[in-house]
Amino acid sequence: MRRVQTNVICRPAVIQSGNGRAGIVLRRETHADLLRAELIACWEEANTMPQSSVDRCDAIVIGAGIIGAAVALELSRAGRSVLVVDAAAAPGMGSTGASSAIIRTHYSKRDSVIAARDCYYDWLSWSDYLQFDDPVGMIRFIRTGALVLDGVDTRRRAFTEIFDSIGITYHELDADGIAERFPALDPTVFGPPRLPEDDEFWRPGAGPLSGFYYEDAGFVDDPQLAAHNLCAAAAQHGARFLFHRRVTQIIARHNRVAGVRLSGGTEVVAPVVVNAAGPASDQLNVLAGVTKDISVRSRPLRTETHEVPAPAGFEIGAAGTFVTDLDLGFAFRPHHNQRLHVSSIEPDCDPLDWVTDPWSFDPAATEQFYHRQTLRAARRMPNLRVPNRPVGIGALYDVTPDWTPIFDRSSLDGFYLACGTSGNAFKLAPMAGRALLAIITGTEAGLDHDDDPIMLKAPRVDGEINLAKFSRLRPLNQTSPTNVIG
Ligand SMILES: Cc1cc2nc3c(=O)[nH]c(=O)nc-3n(C[C@H](O)[C@H](O)[C@H](O)COP(=O)(O)OP(=O)(O)OC[C@H]3O[C@@H](n4cnc5c(N)ncnc54)[C@H](O)[C@@H]3O)c2cc1C
Repeated sequence: MRRVQTNVICRPAVIQSGNGRAGIVLRRETHADLLRAELIACWEEANTMPQSSVDRCDAIVIGAGIIGAAVALELSRAGRSVLVVDAAAAPGMGSTGASSAIIRTHYSKRDSVIAARDCYYDWLSWSDYLQFDDPVGMIRFIRTGALVLDGVDTRRRAFTEIFDSIGITYHELDADGIAERFPALDPTVFGPPRLPEDDEFWRPGAGPLSGFYYEDAGFVDDPQLAAHNLCAAAAQHGARFLFHRRVTQIIARHNRVAGVRLSGGTEVVAPVVVNAAGPASDQLNVLAGVTKDISVRSRPLRTETHEVPAPAGFEIGAAGTFVTDLDLGFAFRPHHNQRLHVSSIEPDCDPLDWVTDPWSFDPAATEQFYHRQTLRAARRMPNLRVPNRPVGIGALYDVTPDWTPIFDRSSLDGFYLACGTSGNAFKLAPMAGRALLAIITGTEAGLDHDDDPIMLKAPRVDGEINLAKFSRLRPLNQTSPTNVIG
């Protein structure tokens, strides 16, 4: 069981009940790690209500992951009565709980960079964004900066030209610059990415490596707690939550959503339903009968992240940074307790493990995946020790063909899409919430978002996000090979 990284243990001390709602009032107990089980207990005792007490609302959000939680917050802040339904026991127990939670802004698409940069400020000032302090504990944003190492086939300018146009400061580094700033790294070209079983993987380096570094990046110390923070903030605005309930039917009448049926048979009536079901989102789209016009249908993809002891000199606050290594085809960042967290960026050479049933996959790390990733890390960091036994987890992405999320309406009136997050949209959750609020408000007021796409303001970047870029109808003329590009 993963530990929730926070400093306090809290238990529900008072449960407020009024007008059919349960509120959460929690008491700080001792300074220690808060186990995931504790978070579940908080929700079971404080926020979950009897199934029979909920029969209608303004909007149902399916999924209490980081995306559904952010959508629920924005809708409830805007005055809608919201019900969040999740098959799991507490917020953030799907992909969200497994996320590396890296907050970076390098994408090769301008609208994605603007969205990520705008959201960066939300993660930086989390309490201001929530307008709420969660008594269970608040996540922390750990600023590490980000180093992007050039890949043989990846043009650095694809990233930096967008940074220039938006005003994101970065520093281009040659091999000497990398060695000086990050002495634990070997700034040599080893790529293009290969599997360790390929003899070429071990060939000597082929010259000096370069890249670019920017400071405004990092990671969230506890992604599951982030979802909890959002849900608790939404609860303050009246959002209600049903856990341990799976949506088994999308009810529609005259091409308009009318509500959902839950496992157990209960129906909940609502004019708006949002699909934020993560890797199970395409299943729900099939249930709703809306897949026909989606040009970018998503599929669950199994991935793994691993942890090994960090080499000396690569710790948080001591030349440890988030590294996207396009040369070797993987990513890594420092973690707490002198650990190194290693994740995949799905280079072309890596086999992809597509999963048919998102409710059934192996959550344990495998030796093959572990060795592939950690041997790449060992090439980049000569002093890295790689323990033989895999430490890590298996989890699912919800991947579209161009590795870009879908934030959109659907062909069924009232049924909205916040899915296809493609292994890179934890950071975009605040924007997903704002985007869905704008799309739902506009569409329900008669606006034709398909023909006249909504532009979402990103005031802190002094820009706008063209939501057509996240449309279910977008053309697929250029596929992106990895989740860094999306
Ligand atoms: C290993 C890994 C590493 C990642 N690293 C990063 C990263 O560093 N940075 C980044 O930005 N992104 C990252 N991502 C991606 C990011 O974590 C996801 O995009 C994000 O968490 C998706 O959130 P979600 O709310 O859409 O899905 P989920 O968190 O999966 O939530 C969906 C919820 O819907 C519920 N549900 C599904 N179907 C139903 C149903 N029929 N009825 C009721 N409930 C249902 C599920 O129980 C689940 O709780 C990573 C993802 C993974 C797996």
